[in-house]
Amino acid sequence: MAKRYKLTCSQCGRKFFDLDRGKALSRLRKHLWKDHQDWMRRRIKAGIRKAKKASSLVVANSPFDLRATLRNIVNPPWAGFAEKPLIEKVTGRPYQEVKDAVIDAMVRQALSGITKGLTGK
Ligand SMILES: [Zn+2]
Repeated sequence: MAKRYKLTCSQCGRKFFDLDRGKALSRLRKHLWKDHQDWMRRRIKAGIRKAKKASSLVVANSPFDLRATLRNIVNPPWAGFAEKPLIEKVTGRPYQEVKDAVIDAMVRQALSGITKGLTGK
């Protein structure tokens, strides 16, 4: 009866199911930091570059309310950002700037995944 959200790790194909979309995202993120940390670091750096190039593009292309909702889902349980000194050391940038860039990247990815899920229903 209840819809289950399915997320797939883009690096190893491992699947994460949960009734709650936020929980599924949270588990996927924990897995990414645990098993694919090098990839996550590269991704953070790429996310910063992309965010600087096209931060306005994302807003223009996304329904605002959906994007805001996703931000709320993605933001608070962001376990990886407990490691503030690591983030700043790896990226050489202020924690908040990195956090904003990565959340944007996460929201973008989540948006594309959810859009696929909705249209495929
Ligand atoms: Zn994986």
